[in-house]
Amino acid sequence: MAYLTKAQALYEADRLAFFIRSYGAKVVVDLRPGAGGGHWGVDTFWGAMVHHIASKRSQGLTPFYSLVRNGRGGALPVPGPLCNVYGGWDMVARIVTMGLANHSGSGGPWEISGFQIPKDNGRYYFLGTEFEGGINVADWTPDYRMFMGAVNAGKLDYVRDLRRRKGFTGVIKDTALCEHSSWARPIGRKIDRTGYTQASGIAEMQAARKLVLPPSARPTEPTAPETKGLFNVDAIWTFFFINGAHHVVNNVTGQYSPVPLSQVDRFTKWLDDNEIPWRWHESKITKSREVSPEDLPFVAPGGRFEWGVGQL
Ligand SMILES: [Zn+2]
Repeated sequence: MAYLTKAQALYEADRLAFFIRSYGAKVVVDLRPGAGGGHWGVDTFWGAMVHHIASKRSQGLTPFYSLVRNGRGGALPVPGPLCNVYGGWDMVARIVTMGLANHSGSGGPWEISGFQIPKDNGRYYFLGTEFEGGINVADWTPDYRMFMGAVNAGKLDYVRDLRRRKGFTGVIKDTALCEHSSWARPIGRKIDRTGYTQASGIAEMQAARKLVLPPSARPTEPTAPETKGLFNVDAIWTFFFINGAHHVVNNVTGQYSPVPLSQVDRFTKWLDDNEIPWRWHESKITKSREVSPEDLPFVAPGGRFEWGVGQL
């Protein structure tokens, strides 16, 4: 099991988008780090989970996108993201994270083609989707049902592709598409909305497969980023300047630390000598003290580490 860097996660998101687009559905990659440590991605997905938010078409095109992306507060807060993929009434699939989503919650265990997803630990293994809807059956028009089916078909294609690249030679069956309620424990903790079940989700997915574009009309399959040196990523370390001091963020762990300028020079030379990719963040950030490194979009929320203590 590996955590992915931002560059690797973007590549995986592009592959997922490719498979969904191959069924003619629109996709926007709007990636953020995952929950549970803020890693950009994991390579452990074995199945696809599908669920519905409980919303109505009259509430707008993407009424709950912000909620599933950022999580919810209140008495029992759940930090976001709450799903990996989100589908709005505009019939656009948004890829939110290739890392962990706080979606599956307690449930299982669940077996997929000989692989056992452990009890209460689904978020490493299910690529979860939340779609709008689930209150009015009529809101799910035939077009929208085809959209949901296409997204699920693309997700399962991606999971099969990922497992194949990781060396799995078995067959992942369509039953690897799981409705959230079939996983959730105790039974009834999550409900199927308006008659949607695992079986009907699979039937919808199978119907949507006929939308598959002819090879000539399919998008170009993304190719892996070029290997540079030891790592297959664009930058393991990103340096930036904020609050009058140099900092560095490790793009694998998402952790950052202030670093003295003299050591920036030494460290970047060492990285170059060892062909480990690094870069400067494009613009210097010289704002006020109110800006914290955690506020910067390229700093994954991995917290601060102490410079010089065993990071190499
Ligand atoms: Zn759900």
